[in-house]
Amino acid sequence: SAASPSAGARPVRAPRGSTLRCRGWEQEAALRMLMNNLDAEVAERPDDLVVYGGTGRAARSWEAFDAIVRTLETLADDETLLVQSGKPAAVFRTHADAPRVLIANSNLVGRWATWDEFRRLEKLGLTMYGQMTAGSWIYIGSQGIVQGTYETFGAVAAKHFGGTLEGRLVVTAGLGGMGGAQPLAAAMHGAAVLGVEIDPTRIAKRIETRYCDRETTSLDEALAWLRDAQAQRVGLSVALLGNAADVLPELVRRGITPDVVTDQTSAHDMLVGYLPQGLSLADAAALRTAQPQEYMARATASVVEHVRAMRTMQDRGAIAFDYGNNIRTVAFDAGVDDAFRIPGFVPEYIRPLFCEGKGPFRWVALSGDPADIARTDELVLELFPEDQQLKRWITLARERIAFQGLPARICWLGQGDRARFALALNDLVARGEVSAPIVIGRDHLDTGSVASPFRETEAMKDGSDAIADWAILNALLNVASGSSWVSFHHGGGVGIGNSLHAGQVIVADGSERMRRRLERVLTNDPGIGVARHADAGYDIAIETAAREGIKLPMRGG
Ligand code: NAD
Repeated sequence: SAASPSAGARPVRAPRGSTLRCRGWEQEAALRMLMNNLDAEVAERPDDLVVYGGTGRAARSWEAFDAIVRTLETLADDETLLVQSGKPAAVFRTHADAPRVLIANSNLVGRWATWDEFRRLEKLGLTMYGQMTAGSWIYIGSQGIVQGTYETFGAVAAKHFGGTLEGRLVVTAGLGGMGGAQPLAAAMHGAAVLGVEIDPTRIAKRIETRYCDRETTSLDEALAWLRDAQAQRVGLSVALLGNAADVLPELVRRGITPDVVTDQTSAHDMLVGYLPQGLSLADAAALRTAQPQEYMARATASVVEHVRAMRTMQDRGAIAFDYGNNIRTVAFDAGVDDAFRIPGFVPEYIRPLFCEGKGPFRWVALSGDPADIARTDELVLELFPEDQQLKRWITLARERIAFQGLPARICWLGQGDRARFALALNDLVARGEVSAPIVIGRDHLDTGSVASPFRETEAMKDGSDAIADWAILNALLNVASGSSWVSFHHGGGVGIGNSLHAGQVIVADGSERMRRRLERVLTNDPGIGVARHADAGYDIAIETAAREGIKLPMRGG
């Protein structure tokens, strides 16, 4: 049976520099990225091997971690290591162009795919929760969520405001782990952002890390600052200490209608995630323990007020959307019949990007040298000079994003551009313009790699929300195309029973051989996303497939 997860814990940090500890750069990359996921700068709870997202782990136990490291150190260039839910299971002879590691995490047969059964098996030491990039060794810290939020607000700007949020007022709440990215990301698009947050320590953290510009406890003061910023068309974010269920209805009473309203309180969890009105943090904590039912009833009543205010703002012309925290459902179940008039953010803003093969593409400098990422930032600007949103992101990311662990960069690139950029990265390595190979990967939240009816595949045009064949085909295609490691997971993002998804990572080591693999993988991996959305009937995907030469037999290709 399983030992305590922290048995054997010790600080971990990926090796830096250009000296190999393994027999090749692909094995070395897997080793460094596994270790980087557990770097104290990167992981939420490294002693328990937890990287992020609840209990998303990089390895099942410290014993398993040590065995993975030992195996990677001796793995030959024609061998493949199999990892079964965070434990190294076997090594097989394959061939030089095959992945060096294949990973399956948290997968359960459908009928048994419940949290209860998962936890029972986890206790027996038989499985591990891999989340998305935790168990597949390509998490890069909070830069990922900042960029995803930046893309969402960029899509809002493009769809409703002529491409910019300058002069616009954005109202949101919740400045926690994920939600804390909202003020920075919206201000990057030039918006004046009001972020309502009930916990002063959360506000202090956002101010400290410069994710938020100013703080106040006065709504009047916040509104005055924001009006100035709107008039000058400069980005500004203001954290207001308060309860969203008080502040949003107050804005409605004053007749203040923001241009955009959304929310990232943890409304998916009525006991721990959402603070009811009229309680201090301490009183809320006491009530939560003493009378959990009463707490949840009061939290739900507050959500009702909160969502009613969002709906009124929407009726008065605000662009409103649900930001993946389930606040609509809570309000709807408590009697707000029109809560679902507020659209979800994926169908509304992210899916059109998926249709072009766009998704959270990222790369990491294995050297550990920030100068290498600086060089790749320039490469982005050289290669895509016409993309203003990308240019703005790279420029601001250089100023505002502190690296965590190995230096990394993320940006959303689409079909064609991912392959072009990957080849250019390989050329940089070949020419010695960076000091070691670059590893290229992505989140499992991507165009062709995930089936998740409450998030990535909510409200698909053809009703194929729960069809998981595409995610499996994605993993198989990445193996066939020659990724360096490929993973298939269950339960990431929205929990056990709710999602199936695949990941891929590939190393640009400057060689001709990797050049061929990079071209295949970075064409085919987003390509299956375009195909998946074309199959579902999305015009943008059908056009992208035609333009990029993706063959679709049922469409005459
Ligand atoms: P978190 O728990 O770290 O932060 C939530 C914050 O909301 C806390 O700081 C809390 O003090 C504050 N809060 C709670 N009730 C409040 C109220 N009534 N008024 C004002 N502030 C209040 O959570 P997180 O990691 O930031 O995630 C936020 C939500 O977004 C979660 O529901 C999460 O599931 C969801 N989420 C969405 C995406 C996405 O892709 N859009 C991704 C991950 C998570």
